[in-house]
Amino acid sequence: MASGNSASFKKLQQLINEESNEETFDYNGKSITGFRFCDMELFAVVFGLLKCPECECVGLSLEEDDISRKGCASKLRLCCERCNWKHLFWTSKRTEKSFEVNKRLIYGMRRIGKGHAGASKFCSVMNMPSPLTAKSFRRSSRAISRHVKNAAKSCMKSAAKEVHAKNRNVNYSNDSVPVNCGISCDGTWQRRGHSSLNGCVTVVSMDTGKVLDVEALTNHCKECKLHEKLDRNSEQYKKWKAKHTNCKANYHGSAPAMEPEGAPRIFKRSVEENNLQYTDFYGDGDSKAFLK
Ligand SMILES: [Zn+2]
Ligand SMILES: [Zn+2]
Repeated sequence: MASGNSASFKKLQQLINEESNEETFDYNGKSITGFRFCDMELFAVVFGLLKCPECECVGLSLEEDDISRKGCASKLRLCCERCNWKHLFWTSKRTEKSFEVNKRLIYGMRRIGKGHAGASKFCSVMNMPSPLTAKSFRRSSRAISRHVKNAAKSCMKSAAKEVHAKNRNVNYSNDSVPVNCGISCDGTWQRRGHSSLNGCVTVVSMDTGKVLDVEALTNHCKECKLHEKLDRNSEQYKKWKAKHTNCKANYHGSAPAMEPEGAPRIFKRSVEENNLQYTDFYGDGDSKAFLK
């Protein structure tokens, strides 16, 4: 943090004072929430304008405890050099062991398909402290993934219930009988072109426009990749193959063929999972899934 009496600090203080006289401020009446990218130097200057609650002397200094820092959550100390009054606080809310800012960063990175390396690069460009270690990043990432999956499942369940209730009235059937409904189906891949390893097929209700089911497909398995160079007839390969029962690849084929592969899987389980029978299919012109 900037020290309270350096020349650059004084200059910044002057600048902030001048700016604050010119600026207009539209207050929308809402209390402030969430995160902002903010320059800590400016905060240090603003705190430098405040009075100490103890001795009322102007000029509190803001410092960072580098050793206690947890990824993007910093421990800061506001203190009065005159009377030694101090106030310690974290830059993010804490839940049990983790900080909200770190969880959000990991979730954000995963949402855009990036991992720890991406997060590190981002923090470095923003002149921010480095994120959590790769190990903690992975651990949190797995936990977040579990929660996101559960949330998605319950969302799709209630979307299916909504469709069921809507069409039940039309078909004059009751709760337990599957009802017919119209859906649209589309596939998407992680990367452009035909080389993508991961993709998913989504089924959307024509009645509500909400997602009813999704099938994630991957033709990538780390274990398989490690053993792909072995001779298929060798003892070593056969031994490994027999033990490899939890293969992560649930699809073997090209990226464009994912949609016609995923759609029937979703159709097959619609009655069992959602008590819905997808009877009307609306696809894009080239929908191979429809033919299948
Ligand atoms: Zn003081
Ligand atoms: Zn495998």
